[in-house]
Amino acid sequence: MPREILNPFKIAQSYFEQAAERLKLDAGMRAILSTPKRTLTVSIPVRMDQGGYRVFIGHRVAHNMARGPAKGGIRFHPDVTLDEVKALASWMTWKCACLDLPFGGGKGGVVVDPHRLSDGERERLTRRYTSEILPLIGPDQDIPAPDVYTDPQIMAWIMDTYSMTKGATTLGVVTGKPLALGGSKGRERATARGVQFVLREACRARKISIKGARVAIQGYGNAGSHLAALLHEEGARIVAASDSGGGVYDPKGLTPAQLLAHKRAGRSLKTFEQGKMITNKQLLELAVDVLVPAALENQITSANAGRIKAKIIAEAANGPTTPMADDILFRRGRTVIPDILANAGGVTVSYFEWVQDFYTFFWEEDEVDRRLEKYMVRAYHSVAEAAARHKCSLRGGAYVVAVDRVAEATRVRGIFP
Ligand code: NAD
Repeated sequence: MPREILNPFKIAQSYFEQAAERLKLDAGMRAILSTPKRTLTVSIPVRMDQGGYRVFIGHRVAHNMARGPAKGGIRFHPDVTLDEVKALASWMTWKCACLDLPFGGGKGGVVVDPHRLSDGERERLTRRYTSEILPLIGPDQDIPAPDVYTDPQIMAWIMDTYSMTKGATTLGVVTGKPLALGGSKGRERATARGVQFVLREACRARKISIKGARVAIQGYGNAGSHLAALLHEEGARIVAASDSGGGVYDPKGLTPAQLLAHKRAGRSLKTFEQGKMITNKQLLELAVDVLVPAALENQITSANAGRIKAKIIAEAANGPTTPMADDILFRRGRTVIPDILANAGGVTVSYFEWVQDFYTFFWEEDEVDRRLEKYMVRAYHSVAEAAARHKCSLRGGAYVVAVDRVAEATRVRGIFP
C-alpha cells in the first residue's frame, strides 16, 4: 500500500492533479496552475512585555491571481509551516473559483501561539507582520482575512497599519473587520451559514432531514460554534463538540449556547458539566448523521476513514481529510462536502465586504444572507453536476469546476510577455 500523504501542499497538489487529468490540461498549464505565484517569508521582531525581544517567522503566499486579487486568511498557530500556507493559499484559489468569485488565492501564517501573548504583544506582532508583507497586500493585490486564532480585532490592526503607512484609510485591504470599521453584517458567522446552506442541499440529495439529525462538531471556534447554533435552531441534535483539549458527547443533545458560555469562561469542552468526556479521535467515529470537522488538517486519514459512521461529512475546516481517506469514504458511500465548497461562505461574505467597502454603502444582514445562499446553492449544484458527469466524488467535481475556471482565465489572459 502506498504511504499516506500528510504534507498539506502535496495533498492540495494531488487533488489538483486529479482535476487536471479529468480536464485533460496540458503539462504547461498544469505547471502554471500548480506553482504558487509568489511566497514571502519574513522575520517579525516583537518587543515583549517582560523586556527583551522575540523573533517570530511569518509567511504570505499568493498562489494564483489570474481571476483577480489574491484572497485568503491569516493564521496564527505554533504549527504553521510554509507548505501549510502554500496549501491553504492554493485551496483559496480553488475555493474562490468554485464559488465564481473574482479573486485568486492567498494565505498567510505566523508561527506563534497567540494565547501565550498579551494583547499588547499580539498587537505589535500583527502590526510588524503587516508592515513586513505590506508591499504585497492591498485592496486590488492581496486581501487578508481571519483564519485560525485571528479575529476582527487583528483585522482592524492590519487595516490601520496599512492605512497609516499609505496615508489614506483603506477599508478594502482586509476583510473580516469589525462592523465599526467597514466590516460586513453577517461576516462573523458567514462560514457557518455557508456550511448550513450546502449541508441542506446534501441532506436533500440523501433524503436526510436536518430536523432531528445527529451532528458531531470537531473544533468550537468561529466556524464550529456558529454552525452548532445554526443547526440547533434548525432542529438538529448537536450530540458532540470538541476543542483542542478534547470534547463532550451526549446522545440526548447539547445546547450550543451553553457550550459557548463554557468556552468563553476559558474552559475546554472536555470539562463540560453535561454528557461524557471524549477525545477528538472518538468524536470523529461517533454514530451520527453529520460529522463536521471544523478544526485543522489531516483529521480523517486512512487509519480512521473505515470507521467513520456519519453519512455526510461537511468540511468546515480546510484540508481535514487526506486523499486516501477521501477515497475510502467515497467507496463506502459517504457524502463528503469538500472544504473548497463547504466552508466558502466565509470568503463569499468577505467578497461582499470588499464590495461594500468600495461603495462605502452597507447592506443589512438579511441581504447578505440572501446573496450568500444564492452563491452557495448555485455552487453546490454546479459541483454536484460535475461530480455526476465525471462519476466522482463532490470533491472531484468541485476541483473540476474550479480548475476549469482558472485555466480558462489563464488561457484568455495569455502568458505575459
Ligand atoms: P478558530 O480559531 O475560531 O477555532 C479553532 C477551533 O479549533 C478552536 O475551538 C480550537 O480549540 C480547535 N482546535 C484547535 N486544534 C484542535 C485539534 N487538534 N483538535 C480539535 N480541535 C482543535 O478557527 P476557525 O476560524 O473556526 O477555523 C477552523 C477551521 O475552519 C480552519 O481549518 C480554518 O481554515 C477553517 N475556515 C475558517 C473560516 C473562517 O471564516 N473563520 C473560513 C473558511 C475555513
